[in-house]
Amino acid sequence: MNCLRIAVCLLLCATAFPADDVKLTDTYKRIRAAIDAVPAIDTHDHLRPFEQIAERDLTENGRGMTLHSIWQGSYYTWTNPLTGWQDGRSFDAWWSKAKGDFQDARATSFYRYVLPAFQDLYGVDFETITDEQARTLNQQIFDNYKDDRWLHDVITNRANIELMLVDPYWARLKFERAYKFAVPILNVTMMVDGYHPSAIEAASDSPYVYAEQHGQPVKSLDDYLKTLDTIFEDAVAHDAVCLKSTLAYQRTLDFQDVPKEKAERVFGRPTAELSAEEIKEFQDFIFRRLCELSAKHDLPFQIHTGQARIQGSNPMLLVDLIADNPRTKFILFHGGFPWIGETGVIAMRHKNVWIDSVWLPQLSYTMAKRAYQEWLEIMPSDRIMWGADTVNAEGIYAATVFTRQCLSEALAEKVVRGELREDHAIRIGGQIMRENALKLFPKLQRHLWKERK
Ligand SMILES: [Zn+2]
Repeated sequence: MNCLRIAVCLLLCATAFPADDVKLTDTYKRIRAAIDAVPAIDTHDHLRPFEQIAERDLTENGRGMTLHSIWQGSYYTWTNPLTGWQDGRSFDAWWSKAKGDFQDARATSFYRYVLPAFQDLYGVDFETITDEQARTLNQQIFDNYKDDRWLHDVITNRANIELMLVDPYWARLKFERAYKFAVPILNVTMMVDGYHPSAIEAASDSPYVYAEQHGQPVKSLDDYLKTLDTIFEDAVAHDAVCLKSTLAYQRTLDFQDVPKEKAERVFGRPTAELSAEEIKEFQDFIFRRLCELSAKHDLPFQIHTGQARIQGSNPMLLVDLIADNPRTKFILFHGGFPWIGETGVIAMRHKNVWIDSVWLPQLSYTMAKRAYQEWLEIMPSDRIMWGADTVNAEGIYAATVFTRQCLSEALAEKVVRGELREDHAIRIGGQIMRENALKLFPKLQRHLWKERK
């Protein structure tokens, strides 16, 4: 063969097998288009009422959202440096320093997931951004947050989200519904610390304060448990659809079955009088009561699993609790990152377990893609969900696009390898983005507002 023929052959081969990027195939493009068209149910975000959206900077032109706000409000800063915004300073003063911050973050998912927001919403490739483009981008972001129209448009149209479960860790017992697409949940994290009123920092989160306001002051452990029951009733009355715990940030997920007498002995004593073991026993006791209340009030339980504190956040620690509470519907958040296989086997063996891939693509795109493929091989496709887990329009858009891409890629690879039919893959995509959440939280049906096509 002469050189020309070899070159032509190589070119043809390259066209037929475009590297190993499934995203270049028509199969991927069709699956992606179908998944993009699904009005998503986002099972977890922290979107505050518009005026309270955090990270607004004090600029030369007043307080507002900036390019710095978008990065500061993203997960980028969890592992990467970001120059702070100095009050009243100009964008150029910040950018001249900040533009050098991103060099070592280029491959991280915490950086990469944010990029679609700049590319799709503002037409800017952040990887090659010029000073002039950055200045314009910053001004556009600032202008977009003068009222809430941009936020509504980006979330409901561009990201194509129909409903979003909002975890209001800033006002856990208020059950606000600040947006037509927002659905309240009950964050129960602080309830385990109710051994003494002083152990719960925020008055707005305190079952004791709540009990006072409702004319049933707490004098005993039974009173406290009764108050929790009342709060659950209130949550249901306010259309909350599930519970949420972020205790993995504070302690181990090992919740022992502690007898009530032990919890009685701890109740009413301030933290300073208690050993770490006694506090853990009380928390364990309450957490197990919360699992019972979850079943009683039909509020499935979203539990943060995986890296928070690394020690004690392996979802395997929940297995006894899950086995002991077959009527409670457990939702293991973040796919248990990095213990995605462990999370999968728990869901495989326990029918009362759902997996939520919320946040997982942002943590590691590759691990998320592998997780979707592995989970779909070991469990039914109707128990996997997703969520964006962010705080502003750009973050929510970016996380949603990143997830749709990751899921589409995971499914398309299976189709290309002959492990799944394309029509079945598209159906599974719709389940994960929407249908599974509607099935698990049937109360969401009455909040649906998008017109069916
Ligand atoms: Zn979250």
